Amino acid sequence: MKIGILAVQGAFIEHKMMLEKLGCECIELRKKSDICHIDGLVLPGGESTVQGKLLKELDMLTPLKDMINNGLPTLATCAGLILLAEQISNDENVYFGTLPVTVERNAYGRQLGSFQKKASFKDIGDFDMTFIRAPYIKDAKNTTVLATIDGRTVAVQYKNQIGLAFHPELGNDTRIHEKFLQLIQN
Ligand code: GLN
Repeated sequence: MKIGILAVQGAFIEHKMMLEKLGCECIELRKKSDICHIDGLVLPGGESTVQGKLLKELDMLTPLKDMINNGLPTLATCAGLILLAEQISNDENVYFGTLPVTVERNAYGRQLGSFQKKASFKDIGDFDMTFIRAPYIKDAKNTTVLATIDGRTVAVQYKNQIGLAFHPELGNDTRIHEKFLQLIQN
């Protein structure tokens, strides 16, 4: 399976290592000409404002948005989730806008900037979730909620898109990436 990983900024290497461990071929998408036929797309964590700006400047936003809208299975973590969101409650920008959710950036404040919590993930069970200056999903409309923490939605699926507020690529637990590969296979 060939997976494109957005690699303009942020934590893309960890996704690459995990997906290679699962037998995938990974293409780092750094510029428009890197965009080729892929079976799945990963949007990593990092800084959404920087990633969004680079996507526009590098003319990658529209081609990738079209691919997502055409059904390309997409796994987005943290800043990636912000890029997918239809609305950001505390930011005027919209980037791909393909996922019908409202997210709040940096939703856990300064003190809780980074934390780990074990919570149940749909069809997987308990999963150690690492949050780093994470958003949370305020309004999930017609999506399937995959995980919540203290009543806050932290993971959703909408058709071909999985959006996570946390970082499943950190650590050795590959089950969420495996779930993503299953989504591609189906
Ligand atoms: N705080 C970052 C943002 O708003 C996201 C952090 C992350 O991806 N770990 O874009």
